[in-house]
Amino acid sequence: MRRPRISSKLRAKIMEEARYRCGYCLMQQIATNWILEVEHIIPTALGGTDDEENLWLSCPACNRYKGAKVKARDPETGRKVRLFNPRRQKWERHFRFSYDGTKIIGLTACGRSTIEALRLNNELAKQARAIWRNAGIHPPKD
Ligand SMILES: [Zn+2]
Repeated sequence: MRRPRISSKLRAKIMEEARYRCGYCLMQQIATNWILEVEHIIPTALGGTDDEENLWLSCPACNRYKGAKVKARDPETGRKVRLFNPRRQKWERHFRFSYDGTKIIGLTACGRSTIEALRLNNELAKQARAIWRNAGIHPPKD
């Protein structure tokens, strides 16, 4: 039998450190029946390791849209910049939610490029955020 690459102990530690929410769109585990995934900040396809420093929590949608990307174009300046690193960078410095909580707004080139690359404001995400907001579980409170 194949040994899992990331131990359940490390997975539990990362889930706790990430406060049970996606590092990119902040979707909370309580808002979905999908198990949040441990993702590679630097994708394994680009040489990223299974070391703790390279791992964080992501929802399946953000993980799929991120794929093997590490950089994307900032729609405002056209410059290609590094994607947001949820382990090293503070979400609040690069993003904020719109007043109604449904849309993520990029505050920096890094934030804007990440929103585009990971499609953080796709229609399904915005609809789900409205439901979570109405249920009183969104935006997540610290
Ligand atoms: Zn997400």
